[in-house]
Amino acid sequence: MNIILLGPPGAGKGTQAEYISKKFDLNKVSTGDLFRENIKNNSPLGQKANEFVNSGKLVPDQIVTDMINNWLISNTDNWLLDGFPRTINQAKSLNQILKSCNQILNSVLLISVPNNMLVDRLLERQKIEKRSDDNMETIQVRINTYEEETKPLITYYQQENILSEIDGSQSISNVSISIEKELANIKKKINN
Ligand code: AMP
Repeated sequence: MNIILLGPPGAGKGTQAEYISKKFDLNKVSTGDLFRENIKNNSPLGQKANEFVNSGKLVPDQIVTDMINNWLISNTDNWLLDGFPRTINQAKSLNQILKSCNQILNSVLLISVPNNMLVDRLLERQKIEKRSDDNMETIQVRINTYEEETKPLITYYQQENILSEIDGSQSISNVSISIEKELANIKKKINN
């Protein structure tokens, strides 16, 4: 089963990705985590991504797509992508990568949360995780970027008939339960 987690910053993608990947034994990649790790190690990739990540803007498509392409070479099946794709261009590149290696994307789970709740959650997270991009100014840039560049993916994947929406305003454990139910259904369909 190959799935994507889609949703605005603060929707809980990272937390749910961690949980679901263990529960369903999926190989997980989180593009945001990969960038933060590379920035911390000051690698060439980190140096390229740094200014974008810290200002809340998207890292250019080519850089992210190359990174995911490399990851998919060694994780050919049974994966979960957290934070990719984030633009229509990235989604199209992913399609091509999957075609070239005969893989299928089974489902896109959209975790929806109202904007006012997102800001509160991200400011709360800042107190605990101290992420440099969880400050009021950058949060606003990230939410706007989501609205403008990532939201069009909802229609894109609806048209492919593989999008399911999850109410992300529930408690963490209830969101997990909703996702588990959805994935159990998808797994059944795949096996039939
Ligand atoms: P996240 O941890 O998913 O909130 O991502 C943190 C930051 O990493 C984002 O604000 C972007 O700067 C960058 N990033 C993560 N995934 C992508 C992506 N698919 N495309 C472009 N930039 C990304």
